[in-house]
Amino acid sequence: MAILKSAAARKKSAPAAKAPASAKAPAAKSRKRARRVVDAAAVQEIFRRFQQANPEPKGELEHVNAFTLLVAVVLSAQATDVGVNKATRPLFAVADTPQKMLALGEDKVRDYIKTIGLFRNKAKNVITLCEQLIRDFGGEVPRTREELETLAGVGRKTANVVLNMAFGQETIAVDTHLFRVANRIPLAIGKTPLAVELGLERVIPAAFMRHAHHWLILHGRYVCKARKPACDRCLIADLCTSPEKTI
Ligand code: SF4
Repeated sequence: MAILKSAAARKKSAPAAKAPASAKAPAAKSRKRARRVVDAAAVQEIFRRFQQANPEPKGELEHVNAFTLLVAVVLSAQATDVGVNKATRPLFAVADTPQKMLALGEDKVRDYIKTIGLFRNKAKNVITLCEQLIRDFGGEVPRTREELETLAGVGRKTANVVLNMAFGQETIAVDTHLFRVANRIPLAIGKTPLAVELGLERVIPAAFMRHAHHWLILHGRYVCKARKPACDRCLIADLCTSPEKTI
């Protein structure tokens, strides 16, 4: 009985033994603290180095005007820039305006882009987008995000790329590379592209906003790669606080 009693007593006292769980809380909190974005001086230095290394970064999607840029970006969803360029070079040679693209027709557009993923749907979107441009915007590519987002196949990211590259606006288009890099360094921590975009807008100094998204995309594509970041040749390794850093 005495044994039973002490066992029961131990059972009763079990919840109290969970106290260490609360003792773990500060550690968990401190882990969160470690993932705070880098401070303003580090942000300034990161972009100073990106600028010094590549003063005029360029996107890699080939285009000849705002319209062909818009089409190229629409086609680039879930496809590589190299693959898109291969298909659009001959396409844009014969259709560099919405009118010419419409005259070409959906079947022929589909033929030109058949090497790109989701080409059927994308060909449909390109034709609809051309009809919308002519009907709603006099054949011109609109210059606001709200207007761009009314076009077939155009979401916030596509709109931001066009605003930045075609019209020089200080937008940040968050693609998969930029999303990863921003969360890694971290410059902005977010679970969605929009959260990262807004976070970056808060911390990036105005002087660097125009080219910030290209620097970060190129950094993610060629250095801070998804599986194996090349930290040994990273310009900003000393400023990065990523646990994935390999040096
Ligand atoms: S140090 Fe490594 S993880 Fe950090 S930004 Fe550079 S490549 Fe990415």
